[in-house]
Amino acid sequence: MGYEELLEDAYSKLPEKTKGGERFEIPVLDCFNEGTKTIVKNFQAAASKVRRTPEEMAKYLGKELAVPATVEGERLILHRKLRTDVVNKKFEEYVKAQVTCKQCGKPDTHIVHEAGQRARTLVCEACGARGVVK
Ligand SMILES: [Zn+2]
Repeated sequence: MGYEELLEDAYSKLPEKTKGGERFEIPVLDCFNEGTKTIVKNFQAAASKVRRTPEEMAKYLGKELAVPATVEGERLILHRKLRTDVVNKKFEEYVKAQVTCKQCGKPDTHIVHEAGQRARTLVCEACGARGVVK
């Protein structure tokens, strides 16, 4: 089997939805209020969908929403009562800024911390584009 065929073979074994073509949908965070807190039930699942760690997402959301945020198992605890749409709006901003590729719109990216530089680079594995993350 040649290299091309191997690739083809590996490709055909991928689950249907990673084959591309369809638009990436930003996961919706499932939130509810508990006393003065807001709990995101599916935080871990959302993190794995966008291929980021719950910790870095929590850091971003906590900062943007100006509330303490702690990861607790699969869930995220935001220490203030917040509306679901407010939390999701910030999460969408996060995904647009730090996950999806500016060139091709695919979420198959990772962030590189360049040595000696403060800026981080978003590298797209689908099209190879690189861009600076704010
Ligand atoms: Zn791309």
